[in-house]
Amino acid sequence: MTTADPKHSFHALRIADVIQETSDARSFSFEVPRELEALFQYVPGQFLTFEIPWQSLHLHRCYSLSSAPGCDPLLKVTVKRVERGRVSNWFNDELAPGKTLAVKPPEGLFVLRKGELERPLVMFGGGSGITPIVSLIKSALTSTRRPIKLVYANRDRDSIIFRTELESWRARFPGRLQIAHHLDAEQGFMHAANAKDHFAGLEHADFYICGPGPFMDVVEAALEERKVGRGHIFIERFVSPADPDRVPVEPEPAAKPAASVAASYVCMLEGTRHEVPVAPGETLLAAAKRAGLEPSFSCEEGYCGCCMAQLRRGTVKMRTHDALTAKDLAKGWVLACQSRLEGEEEVELDFDARY
Ligand SMILES: Cc1cc2nc3c(=O)[nH]c(=O)nc-3n(C[C@H](O)[C@H](O)[C@H](O)COP(=O)(O)OP(=O)(O)OC[C@H]3O[C@@H](n4cnc5c(N)ncnc54)[C@H](O)[C@@H]3O)c2cc1C
Repeated sequence: MTTADPKHSFHALRIADVIQETSDARSFSFEVPRELEALFQYVPGQFLTFEIPWQSLHLHRCYSLSSAPGCDPLLKVTVKRVERGRVSNWFNDELAPGKTLAVKPPEGLFVLRKGELERPLVMFGGGSGITPIVSLIKSALTSTRRPIKLVYANRDRDSIIFRTELESWRARFPGRLQIAHHLDAEQGFMHAANAKDHFAGLEHADFYICGPGPFMDVVEAALEERKVGRGHIFIERFVSPADPDRVPVEPEPAAKPAASVAASYVCMLEGTRHEVPVAPGETLLAAAKRAGLEPSFSCEEGYCGCCMAQLRRGTVKMRTHDALTAKDLAKGWVLACQSRLEGEEEVELDFDARY
């Protein structure tokens, strides 16, 4: 269950409290032992990864923190049932205060950008996608002067998670938080025209989006139509790592290997330099894992940013880099799960670099 580096390892946390938020969502708060407090410090918008024993397997699931430092005394995640979902239903049916879970320290890049203290915030949340957003809202209200608009889509009124909590934050900060509910049962699914209406006049804002895939596609399309710069759009996709018994149907597209592509790279991890062999077309994350190394990773689709590393030498080719901003790219940050070697020059990737 553990690796050498505690930030990449699972640690036992005890459930302090379970809160029934709606008929199909519960929040779980955790006690963090004093010796783990520094490791479990987090930034609003980050998530925890849980390791759940399931029959003969260990399943890994990420859950965003719905708490915010300085606003909530304990770390809290909120889990909504997914139809036939293994872990989400287990959380909702089986867990009670006192139970201990294996949890990896907070990770993720769906966070407020520093230096943007005045720019308005527009948050699009759908269903359980509200969890990182409520954390960002609490933090932005209490630590900045930024005006916030939340557009919150749900099936119906009874499925609105944190309805009361959000109302109390709105009341506590008059004029700072505007909330627009969208209920599918009354208005149908949100489409691009609705989304555009919600942010009319706020095109200069920072946008944070988290929710079901089709909802996020609609919002992204609306932002694109309004020419909102990619650097101001932050997206969290709830895509969990593939389970050991559910091999992805589509294998990674193997890039046509050129004779002139290097066959290894230098990987700095936990203070040690490793020469990692890379098979043709293989990603640098896959190569590191195959070499027995354990860098941090989660979605492996370029969305979560957990496998971010700094390119110290050489160049790599990334298939996608949704989790990175233009500034990140300019500073040499890459996503190891999307990076492949593309030339003969030596490549060095530093997984120890601090963001
Ligand atoms: C960064 C991040 C943050 C997240 N934060 C949250 C959060 O705050 N709250 C939250 O509720 N969720 C969150 N999620 C989603 C969460 O991690 C899980 O993906 C979700 O709870 C579903 O897990 P599950 O085990 O219940 O479902 P799974 O068992 O993984 O099932 C998912 C779907 O696959 C279907 N399925 C069934 N059998 C198969 C099969 N053989 N092969 C393939 N698919 C099958 C199931 O029917 C179901 O519809 C987050 C995800 C990420 C990546």
